[in-house]
Amino acid sequence: MVLRTQVAIIGAGPAGLMLGALLARHGIDAVILEARSRDYIEHRIRAGVLEQGTVDAMDEVGAGARMHAHGLVHDGAILRFGGQSHRIDFRALTGKGVMIYSQHELVRDLVALRLGAGAPLELEVEDVTLSGLDTAHPEVRFRRAGHDTVLACDFVAGCDGFHGVSRAAIPADQLRIFERDYPFAWLGILANAAPSSHELVYAHHDRGFALLSMRSPEVSRLYLQCTPDEDLARWPDDRIWTELAQRLAADDFTLTPGPITQRSITPMRSFVAEPMRYGTLLLAGDAAHIVPPTGAKGLNLAIADVRLLAEALAAFYAGDPALLDGYSAACLRRVWKVERFSWWMTRLLHRFDDGDFAHRIQRAELDYVTSSAAAATTLAENYVGLPLR
Ligand SMILES: Cc1cc2nc3c(=O)[nH]c(=O)nc-3n(C[C@H](O)[C@H](O)[C@H](O)COP(=O)(O)OP(=O)(O)OC[C@H]3O[C@@H](n4cnc5c(N)ncnc54)[C@H](O)[C@@H]3O)c2cc1C
Repeated sequence: MVLRTQVAIIGAGPAGLMLGALLARHGIDAVILEARSRDYIEHRIRAGVLEQGTVDAMDEVGAGARMHAHGLVHDGAILRFGGQSHRIDFRALTGKGVMIYSQHELVRDLVALRLGAGAPLELEVEDVTLSGLDTAHPEVRFRRAGHDTVLACDFVAGCDGFHGVSRAAIPADQLRIFERDYPFAWLGILANAAPSSHELVYAHHDRGFALLSMRSPEVSRLYLQCTPDEDLARWPDDRIWTELAQRLAADDFTLTPGPITQRSITPMRSFVAEPMRYGTLLLAGDAAHIVPPTGAKGLNLAIADVRLLAEALAAFYAGDPALLDGYSAACLRRVWKVERFSWWMTRLLHRFDDGDFAHRIQRAELDYVTSSAAAATTLAENYVGLPLR
């Protein structure tokens, strides 16, 4: 079978689904191909902090109703160290806040929008391969329910995450890779427990970093710095709650435990592939870059990429290729600032075993960020989200 569309989108994560929705608003046809099932992508637990730009994009495509009904608007966050809490007031410092709303709920909203509009979303596809990327007539081949299909298109949007096929389809000598691994990971849990704080608590502690976050007024999301090869079997519920209570401890704080419903280990990595375009293939989101989750940026960066990409494709089909020609450079300028912030937040808050001098510098930086309005504003304006351009 041979199908034809304007833009073949590989991956129905936040980047692919949002790109499909934005293109539809410009009257541009797209087919989204996704390797996993609807149930799988709608229950994949990942990020949960949305910048204003991501909230705006959800509203722009008409998928924001549940987010506004159930999301929690946060105007600040707590940095905790030495047993003391220090609030960074995002609203006072920048005029903006963030929205707490789960990534899988955002995916659910975008899937419902797409299927409700009758737009093509091919789920559970196999053996996706890309060809003709250095020509004006690329093709995507895939198998679904035993049938082989060729999807002819003008452009391929590689929105298939870090392990997808899109970036791998670019000849190695056409890509430059920048990366940094960290000597730790995050042990994350979801728990049926009312959040012990109204706002996120980022805790620096001699035993390691901890983060108190939430998904709703009834569900807490918490993380512990752990070793990259940590064995979850060595972490029964009691040990997790005891460790969290130690790292998050402060005079005015009591941690409320509850049944743990999900637990996982998330590796920490910084990664950028340059450029984000090869011929008619355009990369977006985790397919092109990864940030450690400390700055809550991965999902937001993916949405920022596709906002730029949708604008560029709309201009191209209207006769102006300039934005598309500048797509990679425009994204990378922002990507590197977000990489910097995510690296800096990770460096600021985690326990690094790199000596007493480095540890004293880290404590001095925490003190500076929480006692200087200029330093706090720098953190706040990055956390709530830098401008698109
Ligand atoms: C375990 C985990 C926890 C995270 N936690 C946080 C967090 O707390 N805060 C934060 O800010 N960020 C977090 N992130 C990062 C954030 O979730 C990602 O940055 C975000 O999902 C990027 O969206 P994306 O659409 O680019 O990629 P993805 O969400 O990865 O979507 C890619 C899609 O492509 C599909 N796909 C892959 N290969 C193929 C193929 N060959 N053919 C078709 N489809 C394919 C995948 O199934 C997937 O649905 C986390 C990431 C992970 C992995």
